[in-house]
Amino acid sequence: MRLLIASGNEKKIVELRRLVEQAGLSLEVVGLGDVTPYEEPVESGDTFEANALIKARAGAAVTGLPTLADDSGIEVDVLNRMPGVRSARWAGPGASDTDNLELLLRQISDVEPARRRGRFVCAMALVRPDGTEEVLRRTMEGVLVDAPRGTNGFGYDPIFVTDGHDVTNAELAPDEKDAVSHRGQAVRAMLPVLARLENQS
Ligand code: IMP
Repeated sequence: MRLLIASGNEKKIVELRRLVEQAGLSLEVVGLGDVTPYEEPVESGDTFEANALIKARAGAAVTGLPTLADDSGIEVDVLNRMPGVRSARWAGPGASDTDNLELLLRQISDVEPARRRGRFVCAMALVRPDGTEEVLRRTMEGVLVDAPRGTNGFGYDPIFVTDGHDVTNAELAPDEKDAVSHRGQAVRAMLPVLARLENQS
């Protein structure tokens, strides 16, 4: 059976394919580049779960394939859990990762280290062709530092130190980050659901 990842992000697709294979599942993982192109829906939800479902529902409706989608971002406690679902465009439409990160740093520049707590959040949704749905959320808790460090990863990784570590996410090797990350945890939690999908085929 084919499984669609409703994402144009090749890194996400490669990572998910590797995890599905490592789990011994025989699902064929395909991305948006492998199916007939369709207009991707606006991510208009107020929650990560709502946006993940919007993307997965659209993929399943158009292709008829079981479809997995995720939505993620960072929450900062002193900012009332923002940027949240606005993480990708925090500094405005078309903002770069650096623009977003610099704005966030300025917004918490006078906050003492002990109160700079936050988390990365990943919601992952699976929509089956029969319309049934699963959605789950995993988080990675930590603190925001006051200046970027490291070159791995993307987004807000250079200013986030995960609990139990003393380096930023951008200083972790990719497999070290996967082992603890919000997205890594969410994919691993979804694997039993994907295994049942395989048995239904
Ligand atoms: P999306 O889920 O790919 O739409 O990502 C939303 C935004 O959240 C990204 O543009 C990043 O700014 C941020 N983000 C999500 N996951 C991570 C991560 O693992 N590290 C750093 N930034 C992230």
